[in-house]
Amino acid sequence: MTNKKVIIIGSGPAGITASIYLKRSGMEPYLIESYMPGGKLSSTYKIDNYPGFDSINGSDLAFKMMDQLTKNQIDIHYETVTSVIKKNDKIIVESSVDSYQTEAVIIASGMTEKKLNIKSEDKFLAKGISFCAICDGGFYKNQPMAIIGGGNSALEEALYLKDLANPLYIIHRRNEFRGDQLVLDQVKESDNIKSMTPYVPVEFKGEEVLDSLVLENVETKEQVEINVKGVFEYVGSIPNTSFVNNKEILNEQGFIEVDDKMMSKIPGIFAAGDVIKKDLRQVVTATNDGAIAAMAVKSYLK
Ligand code: NAP
Repeated sequence: MTNKKVIIIGSGPAGITASIYLKRSGMEPYLIESYMPGGKLSSTYKIDNYPGFDSINGSDLAFKMMDQLTKNQIDIHYETVTSVIKKNDKIIVESSVDSYQTEAVIIASGMTEKKLNIKSEDKFLAKGISFCAICDGGFYKNQPMAIIGGGNSALEEALYLKDLANPLYIIHRRNEFRGDQLVLDQVKESDNIKSMTPYVPVEFKGEEVLDSLVLENVETKEQVEINVKGVFEYVGSIPNTSFVNNKEILNEQGFIEVDDKMMSKIPGIFAAGDVIKKDLRQVVTATNDGAIAAMAVKSYLK
């Protein structure tokens, strides 16, 4: 068992901000990341609403944040957290590498994309189905592709894929889109994007790799099959909280409930970013949460 003063789980915008604020206030945060620094930001095409940048590629912004970690001499420790528990006044964090006892933890573990759970989806994962347009869009260049979903992620990634795909379908289960009007207008203006509403995907088809997608009209129940080589699912996400053992800090959907200091109902367990229960999930709100959590941890430890 290794002792740490404060552990931060997740190196997306919330975890990075919390690390920088803690380090600059004289503490040594132990920052853990299981996979890719930058979180969802790293696979986001464009960010047009983060102050200071008119428009910036998500991975470029993530790199700038990571660079700031390096300049502040903060290391990222690549470990998978398997358990966080507070018992008998001790917070224990277990990971794939070690067990830690810590005085405070900030959980900034973000969210994971939801699947559609339809026929043959598992068969074509990574063989035509992807959750990251920037990572995988190039594989299907000049071929028909589809985006599923009607939120900001779907619309923004459609703008990225529209120049690669031939054509790009955007498939949404309602006639109204949920994403921001400004982005929706850009999607509607593109000749290469064919909007199909109200349709839901019902089955993926192909031999070794994906060839087509069967859709069902929500109103008429009529089915159509469209030829697609790449499908990008953006139907929302679920919070990464399965490792949280004190289930009483989670709401019904698995988000961590925190107060205005980002502390959960268990003293010493804080959370920040997309993983908390909140209304607005943006890069700017994640960095906000991270800064508040860091300062609250500092006062808590005093
Ligand atoms: P989201 O807003 O929850 O949108 C998910 C979309 O998928 C919705 O349109 C939903 O349809 C559809 N959907 C859900 N389950 C489905 C199913 N089983 N079959 C077919 N369609 C299904 O998720 P998101 O776009 O990932 O965004 C998450 C959060 O991040 C949002 O708060 C968003 O504003 C934010 N975000 C912000 C930015 C930015 O500001 N730059 C960029 C990306 C994301 P319904 O509409 O009918 O429910």
